[in-house]
Amino acid sequence: MDGPERFNGSFTQQEPIPEEGIEAAVAVLRHGRLHRYNTAPGEVAETALLEEEFAGLVGAKYCLAVASGGYALGCALRAVGVAAGDAVLTNAFTLAPVPGSIAAVGAWPVFVEVTEELTIDLAHLEVMARESGARVLMLSHMRGHLCDMDALMALCGRLGVTVIEDCAHTMGASWRGVPSGRHGLVGCYSMQTYKHVNSGEGGLLVSDDPQVMARAVLLSGSYMLYGRHRAAPPVEAFEAIRLDVPNVSGRMDNLRAAILRPQLRMLDERRERWGVLYRTMEAGLRDTAGLRLVERPEEEVYVASSFQFLLPDWAEGRVRALLARCAARGVELKWFGAAEPVAFTSRYEHWAYARPVPLPKTDKVLAGLMDMRLPLTFSPADVAMIARIIRAEVLAVQQSGEEAVVAPVVGD
Ligand SMILES: *Cc1c(COP(=O)(O)O)cnc(C)c1O
Repeated sequence: MDGPERFNGSFTQQEPIPEEGIEAAVAVLRHGRLHRYNTAPGEVAETALLEEEFAGLVGAKYCLAVASGGYALGCALRAVGVAAGDAVLTNAFTLAPVPGSIAAVGAWPVFVEVTEELTIDLAHLEVMARESGARVLMLSHMRGHLCDMDALMALCGRLGVTVIEDCAHTMGASWRGVPSGRHGLVGCYSMQTYKHVNSGEGGLLVSDDPQVMARAVLLSGSYMLYGRHRAAPPVEAFEAIRLDVPNVSGRMDNLRAAILRPQLRMLDERRERWGVLYRTMEAGLRDTAGLRLVERPEEEVYVASSFQFLLPDWAEGRVRALLARCAARGVELKWFGAAEPVAFTSRYEHWAYARPVPLPKTDKVLAGLMDMRLPLTFSPADVAMIARIIRAEVLAVQQSGEEAVVAPVVGD
C-alpha cells in the first residue's frame, strides 16, 4: 500500500526571469554601461526607464529606484526628516529590515499591536502615537494584508503623523482602487527574489512630494546628475538643497533595471495566478476544526505570494508537533511563535536593540500564526495537495493530543 501523500516541490523556487528580461540584461552586459549615470549620447538608462514606467503603473508623480527594499525604507525616513533620537511608529508584526531601517537612521522603533486580521491595531496606534510623540509611521503591509487604509489615513491625519508605506508584499495590490503605496507620503517596494518582481535585490520609492523626492534622489547618490532622471522632480526642486543632503550611496544599476522592466508588465497576470493558488489553499483549509483562516476585506485587492492561517489557543508543543508532521510530508510551515528567530522569521521581541516592550495581543496572535510561501512554480494541484496534508495533520495532532518538544528548523 502507498504511504500518505508527500509534497516534493520547493517553497523557495521562484520562476525564471522572463526571456525578454534575460535579453535586455545581456544587452546591458554587452554595452557595459551598468552604472545608471553611464549613458551614451542621447541614451536613456534602463534605470531611468524603470522609474518612469513604475511611476506610471501606480500613478505617482515621482519614482526612484534604489539598491534594496530596506534601503528604500531608510531613504524615505531620512527624506521626510526623521533624525537620530526620533521615535518612529511601526508594526510589531513585520520583517526585521523594517525596524532595522529605523535603527539605521538612529531613530527608535515604537511597536504597535497586530490584530487577528494581521494588520496594525488602529486603537493601539493612537495610544502609542500619543504616548511616544512620534510624528512618523512606517506602516508595514506585512504578508500583503492591508488595514482599513481610509481609517488609518484619517487617524494619522488627526494625529499629525506622516505615513511611509512598506509595500514589500503589496506591489500590485490596492485598497478601494488606490494602489498600495499611494496613500502615504512615500511608498516603498522591494524587488528581492521572494517578492512580486525579482532582480535578486532592489527597491523603489514613489511620492508626489517634490521636496521629499528631491532629497531621496540626492540621498541615493545622484551626485549632480539628477537631471538624467525621468521620474524625478524638476531640477529647481534640487537647487536649494543639493549641497545640504548627504550622498548615502544606494543606487539601482542598469542590469537589474533591465531584468525588472518586463516583469512590471507581468504584474497583473501574476496577481491573477497567485489569486488562483490562494483561493485553492483557502478552499482546501476551510472548515478545518482548530484552524482559522484570515478573511480578506472586500475593499482589498491583494497579491497572494504567501498564505497565513491561525491556530488559536494551541499549546506550543502541539504547534511543534504539527510543524514536524507537515515537514515530514514535505510541507514547510513557518511559525511566528518560535522562541528563537529562524532564518527569515523573527518577531519583535527578538529585536533587542529596539528595547521592545511586551505586546500581549501580538504575542497571542503570533503564538498561533502559520505562514508559507506560494511561489508561482506551484500549480493549483500542488496547492490542493499541500492543503490536504495540512488539514489531515491538523486533525491528527488534535485527535492524538500529541505534543513535541522541538520543532523542525525550516531553512528559508
Ligand atoms: C523583504 C522585506 C523588506 C525589505 O526588503 P529587502 O529588499 O529585502 O531589503 C521590507 N519589509 C518587508 C515586510 C519585507 O518582507
